[in-house]
Amino acid sequence: MKLLEEKIKKDGHALSETVLKVDSFVNHQVDPVLMQEIGRTFAAYYKDKGITKVFTIESSGIAPALITAYELNVPLVILKKQTNKVVNGDVYQTNITSFTKGTTYELTLSANYICPEDKILVIDDFLANGEAASGAARLVEEAGASIAGIGILIEKSFQRGRKRLEDAGYEICSLARISRLGRDMIEFREADL
Ligand code: 5GP
Repeated sequence: MKLLEEKIKKDGHALSETVLKVDSFVNHQVDPVLMQEIGRTFAAYYKDKGITKVFTIESSGIAPALITAYELNVPLVILKKQTNKVVNGDVYQTNITSFTKGTTYELTLSANYICPEDKILVIDDFLANGEAASGAARLVEEAGASIAGIGILIEKSFQRGRKRLEDAGYEICSLARISRLGRDMIEFREADL
């Protein structure tokens, strides 16, 4: 997606060879016009795939996922990052390690917001090692529902996430694919849309 690539080139900052900062338009301040374009692009791509719900992981995926859900006319479900296992309540939980942030959390989904007939589209801001997206897929499958696709804003193609998810049978659609990062250097490869 040219608009997103241009924005990354203009306002993204490579902090190192592995971490890209996009705080001025995705992670801290949010560009609503860009989010609308992203949501419309995902919705146009997934419109015939029978999606019943859009899932995202709090908090940076919420803005693009909400527009995608709105355009597809389906609910948005926000997977919560809890610090502890929930002992009471009807929830699905799975442990996620964030290598970028050096943290661990319990990704949590209430059983009230999923049923076995659901076909889920997962939207997230970044794909790195595939930990977060794999965890979301585990929760969906544990509930007996299926994953219809995984939509990513920014894929770091030099990390193993995409291969890991594709090997597990998931279809990935990334709007920007970064092949190399370095101090003040961002290189792209051809994106999916
Ligand atoms: P993964 O689970 O695929 O290893 O990493 C994806 C998650 O880590 C995303 O949800 C995102 O929050 C965070 N993340 C991974 N790499 C980056 C990065 O380069 N920049 C930012 N801002 N977040 C990242």
